[in-house]
Amino acid sequence: MTKRIAKRLLCLLLALVCVAAVAVPDHPQVYADVEDDEELIEMRREYDKLEKKIAENQKNLADTKQSIRTNEQKLDDLSDEISNYEEQLEILSGRISVLNGDISDLRGRIQSTNGDIDEINGQIAEVEQKTAETEELMEQTRTTLLARLRESYMSGESSQLELLLSSTDLVTYFTRKELVTRVTENDKALIQQLTAQVHELEELHAQLDASKAALEEKKTQLNNEMNTLEAREADLKSSRSAEQQKKNAVSSKYEQVQGVINELDKDSAAYQKAIKMQQAEREILNREIDEYIRAHASSEGDTPDESYNNDGNMMFPVKGNTYITAGYPAYSDGSAHWGIDIVVRDSNGNNVSLNNPFYAAQGGEVILALNDGSWNHGFGNYCIIDHGDGVMTLYGHSNNIMVSKGQVVQKGQQIGVIGSTGNSTGPHLHFEVRVKRADGSVDRVQPLNYVSNPNR
Ligand SMILES: [Zn+2]
Repeated sequence: MTKRIAKRLLCLLLALVCVAAVAVPDHPQVYADVEDDEELIEMRREYDKLEKKIAENQKNLADTKQSIRTNEQKLDDLSDEISNYEEQLEILSGRISVLNGDISDLRGRIQSTNGDIDEINGQIAEVEQKTAETEELMEQTRTTLLARLRESYMSGESSQLELLLSSTDLVTYFTRKELVTRVTENDKALIQQLTAQVHELEELHAQLDASKAALEEKKTQLNNEMNTLEAREADLKSSRSAEQQKKNAVSSKYEQVQGVINELDKDSAAYQKAIKMQQAEREILNREIDEYIRAHASSEGDTPDESYNNDGNMMFPVKGNTYITAGYPAYSDGSAHWGIDIVVRDSNGNNVSLNNPFYAAQGGEVILALNDGSWNHGFGNYCIIDHGDGVMTLYGHSNNIMVSKGQVVQKGQQIGVIGSTGNSTGPHLHFEVRVKRADGSVDRVQPLNYVSNPNR
C-alpha cells in the first residue's frame, strides 16, 4: 500500500510537471516514463482484481438471494402445515368441549339418582322402624292375652263359681263374665289389626326395595355411560396431544428455517456492502486512470507537434459498410455511453466486424496502448492517441492493438483490428473523442462533431 501511495504522490508530482510544461508553447511531449508505466500496470491489475471480486460477490449475492427464496418457499409450506394442525386442534378441542358438557350432564343425573336412592333408604329405614314398633306392640298384646287365657284356663269352672259367689247378684255375675270375654275379644282384635299393619308395612318395604333396585340399576347404567364418555374423552385428548406434538415439531422446523433466512439476510447484506465498497474503490481507480491519461495528454491551445502532420480534420476510423449501433451520450436503455459503437455489416446485415482494421482518425502520439487481453476497466485492448491541442481519440474492445505507447502515428494508419475484448457483447469498435481543456479538465465529447459516418 505504502508503495502505491508513494507512486500516487509521484504521479501527482508528474502531473504538476505536465501542467508546468503546458505553460511552455511548442514543448514536445515525451512521456515514455518507466515509473508511469508501472503505476498504470498496478492500477490496471488492481482494477481487474476489483472487477473479479465484484463479479464474485454479485454471484454470491445472487446465490444467497436464490437460497432466501427457496427457504421462504419452505417457510410458506411449513406455515400451511401449521395452519392445518391448528385447524385439527380446534376441531378436537371443540369435540372435547361438547363431551365435557355431556359428562357434566351425566354427573348431574348420577348425583340426582344418588339423592333418590338416599331418600328411598330413609323411607325404608322409617318403614323398618314402624315395623319393629308394631311387632313389639303385637308381642306385648300377645303376651298379655296369653297370660290372661292361661289364668282363665287354670282357674277353670272354680273361677266361674268364684266369680258367681263373689258377685252380689246374678246380674253382676253376667256383667262381669261379659266384661272378661269382651277384654279377650279386644286383645284378639288388636292382634289381628297389628298383624295386618305389619303385612302392610312389609308390602311397602318390598315396594321400596324394588324402587331402590330400579334406581341402582339406573345408576349402574349411568356409570357405564360415564365410563364410555370418559374413555372417548381420553381418546380425543390423546389425539389432540399427538396433533400438538406434530405441530410443535413443524413449528420448531419453521423457526430453524427462519433462522437460516436471517443468516442468509445477514450474508446478503454483507455481500451488498462489499460490492458497494468495491464499486466505490473501482470508481476511485477509474478516476486515477483518467487522471493518468489526463496527466499525459496535451491541453487546449497546445500546438500539435509537426511530426503528427495533423491536417485538422478527423476521418471515420473504420472503412466499409459501417453502422453506429450505440450513440453518445447514452445507450437506448438510458445508461451512460461516452462514445460511439461502430460495426461493419455484410449485404445481409450480418456483423462482420471481427478483425476488420481500424485507423487513426488523425495524426498524433500514442499516449496509452494496452494489448494484454485483460478487462482494462471495460475497454479491453485499447489505445489513446493525443492529437495535440488537447484533443484525444480512444479505440476500445480491439482484438489486437498494433501500436505502442510513445509511437507517433499518421492519419489513416492502421492501429489495430476490431474485436470484442473487455465489457463487450459482440465485435465492435468503441470510439471516443476527449478534450483536455486549458484548465486541465477533460471532457468526453460527441464524436460525431468530429467525424461522420461516410455511409450515412
Ligand atoms: Zn461503446
